[in-house]
Parts: sequence; C-alpha cells; structure tokens
Amino acid sequence: MEENIQQDNLLRRTMTHAQHYLHGLADSRVAATATLEQLRARLQTPLPQWETDPATVIDELVRDTADGLVGSAGGRFFAWVIGGTLPAALAADWLTSTWDQNAAIYACSPAQAVIEEVCGAWLKELLGLPSAASFALTTGSQMAHTIALSAARHALLARRGWDVEARGLHGAPRIRILTSDQHHGSIDRSARLLGFGKQAITLLPSDSAGKLAPAVLQAALEQEADTATIVALQAGDLNTGAFDDFAALIPLARAHGAWVHVDGAFGLWVAASDTLRHLSAGLEQADSWVADGHKWLNVPYDCGYAFITDRAAHFGANSHSESYLIAVEGARDQIDWNPEWSRRGRGVATYAALRQLGKHGVADLVERSCRHARALVDGIGALDGAQVVWQSQINQGLVRFLDDRAGANEADHDRYTDAVIKAVTERGEAFFGGTTWRGRRCMRISVCNWRTTPADVERTIAAVARVLRQLAAQ
Ligand SMILES: *Cc1c(COP(=O)(O)O)cnc(C)c1O
Repeated sequence: MEENIQQDNLLRRTMTHAQHYLHGLADSRVAATATLEQLRARLQTPLPQWETDPATVIDELVRDTADGLVGSAGGRFFAWVIGGTLPAALAADWLTSTWDQNAAIYACSPAQAVIEEVCGAWLKELLGLPSAASFALTTGSQMAHTIALSAARHALLARRGWDVEARGLHGAPRIRILTSDQHHGSIDRSARLLGFGKQAITLLPSDSAGKLAPAVLQAALEQEADTATIVALQAGDLNTGAFDDFAALIPLARAHGAWVHVDGAFGLWVAASDTLRHLSAGLEQADSWVADGHKWLNVPYDCGYAFITDRAAHFGANSHSESYLIAVEGARDQIDWNPEWSRRGRGVATYAALRQLGKHGVADLVERSCRHARALVDGIGALDGAQVVWQSQINQGLVRFLDDRAGANEADHDRYTDAVIKAVTERGEAFFGGTTWRGRRCMRISVCNWRTTPADVERTIAAVARVLRQLAAQ
C-alpha cells in the first residue's frame, strides 16, 4: 500500500537522522550555539494552514533544532543530574510511541500493565525496598514525591480521625514536614501542591558533611510532638551526594509516629552496588521512597518511581473508579496508583533498560560513574588555580577556581569560578553547571551517563586546563 511505503520511507529517514545525531555525540560541541532569536526565527512560523509532506516536517525539524540541542545524551555533559539513554531503552521508547498504548488500565493495554508490574517488582528488589510496597511509575521524582506525600497525608490524617479525601484540608489537623536545609526544592513544590503550604516545612540545619544529625532531628520531633509529622530525608544530595544516616534517623522518626519519606532521585541507585550499598543502610525502614529512571538508570525522559509501604494509603489517595472503566480480576490498573488517566507506556523503557543491564550492569554503571566523577574532581582539582571543595563520595563533586590577582577575595573567586564555567561551556568541549554551596560559588561535577569514558574524562580535564591557561594569560 502507498501509505505503508511512505511511512516506511519516513521511519527509515528518521532513523538516519537519529543515527547521525548519536554518532555525532562523541565529537560534537556539547553546548547549544543557537540563540533564542535564531531558534524563534526558525521555529516560530505562523500556524501552518495546510498540509506539509511528513518527510519535510522531519527534515526541517532536524535542520532547525540541530544547534539548539544540548549534548546531554553524550559523554561530556556533567551539569545538573542528567542521564543519557541506554540503547535498549531508546529502542524500546521508539516502540512505546509506535505502539501508542494508553497505559491507564489493564483492559486498555494488558501488556503495559504487566510490564509496569514487573518493573515495580524488579526495582524494589534492585533498590533493596520492601517487596510488599506499592509503587507508581511517574513523570519524574517531582510527581513521585507528590504521590508519596499524598499517601502520607492520607495516612497521618486517617490516624487522627480525618478523612482527607472526603473532607479536604480545611479544618484538618496540621501536618508539618521536617527536613534538612539541604533538601531538594521538589519537596517544597509537592508541599505546595498538596495543600500543606511551604510554611509547613521546618528546615533543620545539616552538619558539615551535609547530613541531618540525629540529635537535631530528635529535638525537632520533641517540639510539638503531637503534630502529624512527615520527615523527609535524602539519599544523594545534588551538590555533594550526601546520604542522611538512615539507620539512626528513621527509627527516631518512627518512634514519634512520623511518616518517613526518602528522596533518592539518583542516590537510591547505590543500593544496586555491593561497594556503595552501605551508604543507603537502614533506608528500607522508611515509609516511602522516590527514584528517577531518567537520571542514573539512563532511560529517556519522562520516568520516575514512587514506592510506598502503606498500600492502602497510596490507593486511598490516588485510586479512581468509573462505570466505563473495565476491571479485570487480579490485574493491576495503573490509574489507581497514579493521578493520571491517559498516560504513556512508561514502563517499557525501564523494562528494557533493566533487561539490558541486569543487576550487575546497573551496579557497573553506578560504580563507573562514581570513578569518573572522582577522576574529574582529582584531575580538575589538581590544575593550577583550582581547588577541590568536595571530593565526590558517589557521582557528585565540587571544585572552585581562585582568582590569582593580588588581594583577590572570596567574591572575586566566586566571579572567577563562574567565568571558568562559562568559558568551558562556550568552548563546547564539556558542559558543567554552577552552584552556591555554603555561600561559595562552585562548579558541579555530576556524572550519570553510561556513555562517559575515561577518554571523555581526560579530554574534559584538558579542556578545563586550557581555559584556565587562557584566562590566566588575559
Ligand atoms: C532531580 C531531582 C529531583 C526532581 O526529580 P525530577 O525527576 O526532575 O522531577 C528531586 N530530588 C533530587 C535529589 C533530584 O536530583
């Protein structure tokens, strides 16, 4: 049939574009070079009124976006916490769009429902979480927090005789959230979305290693001890990779009747590694956890996971039924665990990634990333004018660059550090982000991509060395 031939040609053409992009990652510039104006001038045409040949649509899309894409899929991208895409996960993601299933309920796509069920079981085993925990595959950790904390809200208020699903929060017992001053901002947004409000969050000071000290948590729990409390802990701080001391903190929180939530967006993956698992010791005693697939597991966006021990609370806060939904005895309907109706077959890429790597492959990916991060911190930190601020414990480290002019102060070093980050990024050899840590500007070194090789690490250190020499010569 004519349509089939056209479709085949288009997919082949698109595959060629994809191959070209992937092959280019090894050597192409990492940062985008197109300006905002250029991208708008190319992409912001008047609303198309008539049809365009699909092949033209795709060719022009590739042409118009090429220098506006960031090479985060490649091995020399070290900003934020951004993974790449494993080959099996990428291919599976193509099929996900091809199959175009609505993974809302079992009846709507039986295979998708079972794939998510398997992902849930595999992930709990891999991450060392209780096998009976319920789970949800989400758009990312932000929504995973929201689901987990909706279950916390349900459970904490139910214990106080308040049905939050029926009555809402007006007049409900107050809920507070205790967390360290190093917590991720996504906790704040979930607190806003769930009606707790940001003022419900009490920030507790972390110690010099970025961890919450048991005595600090204990004192906070003892104040207003009757208040419904969520304790939000962290597995993997985005500046330092710090892990809270779960074995000490979780029993304390639970003894006070608190719900313990763990943000493990990337850090939860250390549980896959025999050499790093000790960092997450005791974490399995929490009530809920989140992790991302699209960061360290290297599946395409968008993919996060929530795990919750209190299945009834998770179901109570998120389930949904309608006369036109079809329930199949014994099957898991995703709609009961995610606040979504129509949704992508989000489990397919995770399933493929876990099959490609296996437990040992995930451990190897995690350990390799940590080795590369250490090599980058060591290599860059040893350059003239550089200073190691945080040697990576996992895959996150911090360095800073010192302005060598006589009498330069910390503010000068801050400015110089930002100038180095900007220059490295503009040269296009590697891509780093900045952060303010304990009042000082630093360059973050974050390694999450399966593609990063020792050669990428060496090339990056050399690129930073070149920038430092050029800046010093100015
Ligand atoms: C990335 C991140 C989040 C947010 O996750 P998304 O998947 O981007 O929604 C939360 N916490 C930590 C520690 C993170 O690194």
